Amino acid sequence: CGIVGYIGYRDAYPIVIKGLHRLEYRGYDSAGVALFDTDLKVYKKAGKVSDLENFVKDIDLKGRIGMGHTRWATHGAPSDRNSHPHSSGDRKLTIIHNGIIENYAVIKEALIAGGHVFKSDTDTEVLVHLIENIQNETGLDLREAVRVALNKVVGAYAIVIMSSDEPDQLIAARKGSPLVIGVGKGEYFVASDATPIVEYTRNVIYLNDNEIAYIRKDDLLVKNIDNTIQTPYIHELDIKL
Ligand code: GLU
Repeated sequence: CGIVGYIGYRDAYPIVIKGLHRLEYRGYDSAGVALFDTDLKVYKKAGKVSDLENFVKDIDLKGRIGMGHTRWATHGAPSDRNSHPHSSGDRKLTIIHNGIIENYAVIKEALIAGGHVFKSDTDTEVLVHLIENIQNETGLDLREAVRVALNKVVGAYAIVIMSSDEPDQLIAARKGSPLVIGVGKGEYFVASDATPIVEYTRNVIYLNDNEIAYIRKDDLLVKNIDNTIQTPYIHELDIKL
């Protein structure tokens, strides 16, 4: 039920975990984070954000790119393995998702027939296998594969994707679930609402339905899922802290 992402020059974990706490009011049953330093690390737990923090407290959590998720289970019971992020077989690709993929069952069936092994009962996990499958079959790069995959799913989503193949970017997209991008200097933030972002920047972009944001630390490209380039409007928030 909450999403936070960071890419830039600061340590991502403190920003992500603080952001998840700020989104706790939305309600959730599990929490998880993904960070990239020299490789992609994923930690997730059923329970509270503080349970996740306890779980990782002895781990050195490095990385200037990361994302976090609080889950409100719709498909698959609240459990460690159904918590987000969800990763493809070799963990090259990992995703967090708020919303529902309505046609997940047919997609999952086809992917299982094609040899994909699923590790959770969620609707979300089909997305990560679908993207991987499109890359394997077509040779498309991650950006294009995500766009093609999103054209095949029916439902509502706010997602953020990281890949250890392309560790210098976050890919975020929305349809029916809110997603806000915070625009800093040499850094970007992504969140379900502006509360995790306001202490770092007042400049935000509200992603529209069917838009994908390709985010590097000093570069943002927004496209519609039909592949047209969008010119995002940067709002200046007027919030007193
Ligand atoms: N449908 C997904 C799941 O059950 C995401 C739920 C959410 O919005 O947190 O895992």
